[in-house]
Amino acid sequence: MKKVHNFSAGPCLLPTTVYEQAAEAVQNFNGSGMSILSISHRSKEFIAVLEEAKALALSLLGLENKGYTALFLQGGASMEFMRIPYNLLAHRAGYINTGTWATKALEQATQFGEVDLIASSEDQKFTYIPKDIIVPTGLDYLHFTSNNTIYGTQFNAVPKADCPMVCDMSSDIYSREFDYDKIDVIYAGAQKNIGPAGLSVVLIKEEVLGKTSRSIPNMLNYQEHINKGSLYHTANVFAIYTSLLNFRWLHNLGGVSAIEKVNNQKAALLYKAIDDCDFINGIAKVDSRSKMNVTFDFVEEKMAPLFDALCQDTKIMNIKGHRSVGGYRASLYNALPLESVEVLVSVLQQMNSLV
Ligand SMILES: *Cc1c(COP(=O)(O)O)cnc(C)c1O
Repeated sequence: MKKVHNFSAGPCLLPTTVYEQAAEAVQNFNGSGMSILSISHRSKEFIAVLEEAKALALSLLGLENKGYTALFLQGGASMEFMRIPYNLLAHRAGYINTGTWATKALEQATQFGEVDLIASSEDQKFTYIPKDIIVPTGLDYLHFTSNNTIYGTQFNAVPKADCPMVCDMSSDIYSREFDYDKIDVIYAGAQKNIGPAGLSVVLIKEEVLGKTSRSIPNMLNYQEHINKGSLYHTANVFAIYTSLLNFRWLHNLGGVSAIEKVNNQKAALLYKAIDDCDFINGIAKVDSRSKMNVTFDFVEEKMAPLFDALCQDTKIMNIKGHRSVGGYRASLYNALPLESVEVLVSVLQQMNSLV
């Protein structure tokens, strides 16, 4: 079988060794003769998995011993859109709107209190990250989305504010160095850069909790999940184990700083090819470009069928843009090899020689 180059935006590619080890564990977990799918979430074997996953989830970002708890929950990032204001919004929160996911997060928050729109890039179809953001004082928290998966834009720094910071990092967590410790609640759906779908990771500073007087149902209550160590109910055992395998892979590689170098290399290579080809437009503004999701379109629609055919020949898969934006999107998450980007670049160069 010819090698496939899978640019999926999510659920995304994971390292080959992670697939192999996860597959082995489905048959025979840690030599126990039992499948990872069929052991108790309260067994001592799984508790060891959970504790190592929590420790690595924090230490890979330099957040160990800084007052954070790592939670492994369910409901995806979309559940956190609601769980965040349920737990943190007493009066007023600020939201930066940089796209579909940020909009959804903001809309959920309006059900719990006042929401200030602090900045937005909606005026230019979310193709840029707002600059010189001024945040008023007295907010319960400020929410932003570090990487906008659909549009291919990315914050290169944490916005400055004197309130607790909350960030949806679904599509760039563990991809780069960042001032993670300036953010009080970091959350992510696992299926972009952590592990399989059906799991969300929330890294939370306990000190931001307990500021609202509303009563919070247990499943929605961060404090309850902290108290129960992510075992309030049956955890997603397989997704947590597979995420642990991915955390170990990243740790052995040298951590976030090591993968960031590779990610920078992949993104630079692809953006250069896009900039070198007059027949392609990048969708995101140059100074807001994401290193995880590269969005582009052809100047003339008639180029698209040729590109599609070349992609098919070279086994480039899942590169169509999000249905709301159109065009193309190449997702370059941690596990995507440099080689796949080189194949995509060679396709663009081949087209360049034809025009
Ligand atoms: C994919 C994505 C989401 C939605 O995640 P679910 O786990 O499907 O709820 C939210 N935010 C961002 C930035 C995403 O990329």
